[in-house]
Amino acid sequence: MKPAPFKYVAPSSLEQALEIMSEHGTEAKLLAGGQSLIPVMNFRLAYPTLIVDLNRVTELGRLQAPDNGELRVGAMVRQRQLEHDPIVAQRAPLVHETMPHVAHSQIRNRGTLGGSLAHADPAAELPVIMVTLRARFRLRKKGGERWVDAESFYQSLFTTALEPEEILDEIWIPTMPRHGGWAFLEFARRHGDYAQAGVAAIIDLDDSGLCRGARLVFLNVGEIPMAADRTVTALIGHAPSAALIAEVAQEAARNEIEPVGDIHATAKYKRHLAAVLAERAMRQALTRAREGWGL
Ligand code: FAD
Repeated sequence: MKPAPFKYVAPSSLEQALEIMSEHGTEAKLLAGGQSLIPVMNFRLAYPTLIVDLNRVTELGRLQAPDNGELRVGAMVRQRQLEHDPIVAQRAPLVHETMPHVAHSQIRNRGTLGGSLAHADPAAELPVIMVTLRARFRLRKKGGERWVDAESFYQSLFTTALEPEEILDEIWIPTMPRHGGWAFLEFARRHGDYAQAGVAAIIDLDDSGLCRGARLVFLNVGEIPMAADRTVTALIGHAPSAALIAEVAQEAARNEIEPVGDIHATAKYKRHLAAVLAERAMRQALTRAREGWGL
């Protein structure tokens, strides 16, 4: 299939890109790595009349590690860099560990962080990771900017808080809790396929081994990343036992996700998968948190 006809422009600065979007935002589409946009256009699910290529906007390709322990990632930073850059492994180990699950290495060579986040596929890993880590997104438009936290950015299926004239510019990932343990697990029939279900977990312990914070966010069992915030509060103040973790996993998969069946798996099967993966992920995160304290 071939895309519908379109015009093409490749601005060389963010300012130029914002100017173009302020004029043409409703009929234009931004091109980042093209790994989702081009297939969507080839299938004629989208037919923008103007493509605004961000690949010459060098400001969007910066990855910064300020003294406060955060990671500030430009929207055009390639997924490959998130996978291999040692500063990402050090400051955001959950991101580093998740990257091999995102598609295939050839796709990660072109695909960008911003493109994946803006595309908002419910089966994509990076939106789930950003919600888990409570990242914040800077959205720019001509003459202004606003900040949106990752959780509010995702609104419904393939729908985000981005306005037509806005560009996702930078993603700020907070530092991990000092002794927080993390895990990401998913199940896909073949490596590199979109997963049928997945989950990210963070467990933060105090020095006596009691849980002082927990995060559990599911992938592809709802229209957006599904955070099981109500259920994980049961862990707070406890030294999480295997039984408590199993109970929380079951409860989260029962009450805090909305799986829909498809040709690969029924909703019931996805719910089961989510519970199994959540239990394993929390156990792995707990082990890492305990190791961090030498407990
Ligand atoms: P593009 O395709 O260029 O853009 C995607 C969308 O985001 C477009 O609507 C575009 O206008 C918008 N956009 C891009 N940048 C910005 C910005 N800065 N501000 C606002 N809007 C913007 N992904 C996964 O997560 N997991 C997988 O398992 C997976 N498997 C894949 C398998 C195949 C065979 C393919 C082709 C892709 C797969 N992907 C998967 C998708 C891949 O990760 C893409 O790289 C990603 O979804 C889009 O990133 P991109 O940089 O290519 O964005």
